Amino acid sequence: MGVTAICGVNWGDEGKGRMVDYFARSADYVIRFQGGNNAGHTVVNDFGKFALHLLPSGIFNREAINIIGNGAVVNPAALIKEIEEVEQVIGSINNFYLSDRCHIIFPFHILLDEYEEERLKDNKFGSTKRGIAPVYSDKYLKIGILASDLLNKDYLSKRIKNNLDIKNQTIKSIYNKPEVNIEEMVEWGYSNGKKIEKYIKNVIPLLRDAVRSDKKILLEGQLGALRDIEFGIYPYTTSSSPIAGYAGAGSSIPPYEIKRVIGVMKAYSSCVGEGPFVTELFGEKAEAIRKKGNEYGAATGRPRRIGWFDAVASRYGCEILGATEVSLTLLDVLSGEDEINICTEYKTNDEIIEDFPTTQKLYESKPQYITMPGWKEDITGIRSFFDLPKNAQNYVLKIEELIQVKIKYISVGPRREQLIKR
Ligand code: GDP
Ligand code: MG
Repeated sequence: MGVTAICGVNWGDEGKGRMVDYFARSADYVIRFQGGNNAGHTVVNDFGKFALHLLPSGIFNREAINIIGNGAVVNPAALIKEIEEVEQVIGSINNFYLSDRCHIIFPFHILLDEYEEERLKDNKFGSTKRGIAPVYSDKYLKIGILASDLLNKDYLSKRIKNNLDIKNQTIKSIYNKPEVNIEEMVEWGYSNGKKIEKYIKNVIPLLRDAVRSDKKILLEGQLGALRDIEFGIYPYTTSSSPIAGYAGAGSSIPPYEIKRVIGVMKAYSSCVGEGPFVTELFGEKAEAIRKKGNEYGAATGRPRRIGWFDAVASRYGCEILGATEVSLTLLDVLSGEDEINICTEYKTNDEIIEDFPTTQKLYESKPQYITMPGWKEDITGIRSFFDLPKNAQNYVLKIEELIQVKIKYISVGPRREQLIKR
């Protein structure tokens, strides 16, 4: 059966949640392999509408085991809240585990996120202020705290002291803020650890057996290739790697087991936070698409930046993911546009760019567009490619030609069944 990774091609919010929910109907395991509760993965199914931040989007399949993998970072208070919210609708959750190797977000990580954005002023990153960058920094500084550490108070105290000894120096002298109380943090960690103890597990043997017995495993990425810490629009990236190449490392699945990589790609562009965004639209046009697409962050409520489809960025996103197929989402949002632009290359003062460049070049890049005729019809009820208006078919085929990956799924509405298979 092999393992399938479902990852974002663009800047995030491509509709990964809805695609994972769709494929999870027949999955045995669904694993979130990176990121934290800065995610907002929207799922609309028979249970209702949910914006999942931490729980894998397969949580609605009661037969599937859902796991937050070692590559993710977890705020236990946020996790408890989310579990309670989902349980209110679907009943008690007993198909969920948290890897004992996940790094834990403490309140001081969130404070540091806020202090740093404050310090950066005009150079801020547009952080979601959920403590993501500080917790990943701690991971690589090797002063982080693992989920399993929460369960042993002595060990936890040592780890927190080790962390705050240095952090409090920064808090005091760089940010001019009050020191964090070590004892309080130990209590916070220990008491929250108790609340999530039943979920914390060494999932490696479980997944080893799952792979050996050829179970159907889905790996769910957060954000998208263009926010990848390695290949994205650095430094306006996230602090982890949302690509299929990391999906194995963030979940303990051998890389060669990942046979299928579904790149979730939006029919136009959207982006939350700062950084260069070559095809960005402003004014009325942006506002109209933002409204139609309900483009407000699922985690933060922030209005998303809107742009035309960018084939340079999306082709690169597919390459970086190693997408074996694409799911093109939110096509219905473009209904009613007279004309739709597609960016096919970038131009700077002295060159034409077809391969997605580094950030400083992006700032100089101007989009070069081709213009496609739009369609007026409502397509949200259509379930077959050939029933789409001819102009919508042509738009999809043009994108497929430009990105050079087969578009196998097209979504025409947020609900699970609003999907065309080709
Ligand atoms: P994710 O972060 O990639 O999971 O995506 P988000 O859930 O943050 O953002 C996608 C948004 O688009 C959500 O509000 C979805 O409900 C919505 N959505 C997903 N697919 C479609 C679609 O085909 N059409 C429309 N109109 N909305 C969609
Ligand atoms: Mg999202």
